[in-house]
Amino acid sequence: MTTTVAVVGSTGSIGTQTIEVVAADPDRYRITALAAGRSVDALIDQARAVRPEVVAIADAGLRDRLAAGVPEGTTVLAGAEALAEVAAMADVCVNGVVGFAGLPVTLGCLEAGKRLALANKESLIAAGPVVQRARRTPGAELVPVDSEHAAVHQCLRANDERARVSRIQLTASGGPFRGRTRDELLDVTIDDALAHPTWSMGPKITIDSSTLMNKGLEVIEANELFGHPAGDEGFDVGFDEIDVVVHPQSIVHSMVTYSDGSTIAQLSDPTMHLPIGYALAYPDRFRSPFGAIDWTQPMTLEFSAPDTEAFPCLELAYVAGRLGGTAPAWLSAANEEAVDAFLKGGIRWVDIPLVIETVLDAHDGDAGTTLEAVLDGDAHARALATAELGRLGVAR
Ligand code: MG
Repeated sequence: MTTTVAVVGSTGSIGTQTIEVVAADPDRYRITALAAGRSVDALIDQARAVRPEVVAIADAGLRDRLAAGVPEGTTVLAGAEALAEVAAMADVCVNGVVGFAGLPVTLGCLEAGKRLALANKESLIAAGPVVQRARRTPGAELVPVDSEHAAVHQCLRANDERARVSRIQLTASGGPFRGRTRDELLDVTIDDALAHPTWSMGPKITIDSSTLMNKGLEVIEANELFGHPAGDEGFDVGFDEIDVVVHPQSIVHSMVTYSDGSTIAQLSDPTMHLPIGYALAYPDRFRSPFGAIDWTQPMTLEFSAPDTEAFPCLELAYVAGRLGGTAPAWLSAANEEAVDAFLKGGIRWVDIPLVIETVLDAHDGDAGTTLEAVLDGDAHARALATAELGRLGVAR
């Protein structure tokens, strides 16, 4: 039987890799829908190569250009709602949208009772309770594509007794600035921060990786996916049991430690093809290998604790996660604004955590769990971040 796949955010890093994964097993998987935000020419090229039934673009002004470029007979959708609509159109939706903009896609897929292969962590982090409700839709299923969470998902399936899980260890490469002190980080450039040592990813997540905010967001993501009593996993592991371990080789993608002291880890070379294929095939396994390790070659694996003084974003994420309510939405929104300003040359790298901390300090304790509360929180946090960026002299 063929599994149909909708790829949302198809022109980005996760989207293009999903197309490659599906091409590796065309008998089992078929892409029926492709959707992108604004990259219309890249989307047209993809549509000509992949021949989906539906293409969608979020920017409605690009509809005519898209329609003129895609093969005859392709259904063309456009506008803000189009991506969420596409998310409900196949057996599996791969959500590779960048940032908070991925939320309607996450909800559109789960509320349609389909499998969500989730690479867009921000939707889950900012709107945790909203997504948890959507996960309870009959037929809905969330399989993580984020490599660490795909690893934990696999490690958890090493034991039938979920109550025996004692800790989750998320591994972090440490990014390009691993080992540097706070002082040594004062003058790092955009290019320095974009030069990730092990992973090839889009710019937003690469900067998040350099600040360790990516790992902080992943701690909240892990709590939502695996620790939340309402989650699929059904056991109560929370922020106190989720650790971050720096592992520069990016071979161990994360680990689960059980009550008897045994740690189960998932290992492969760093490639997103594997977790994408895992999320498509689960509970089966993808039939062709991605990132398989050559165990005949010598290899050294190192592990150490993160430096929370040089990388304060990690602790800020724990603070926001423990606050709960709309605090993770505030954190994620402030981070998006700060990273955007950094990428445009407006602030220094070391200012990123300062902007986020200022915003988070102003959190009003809103424990709201509705979509409206999340959207309000997101907007308010962005306004506070913009004000702080203005105070730092950044024109917005
Ligand atoms: Mg990750």
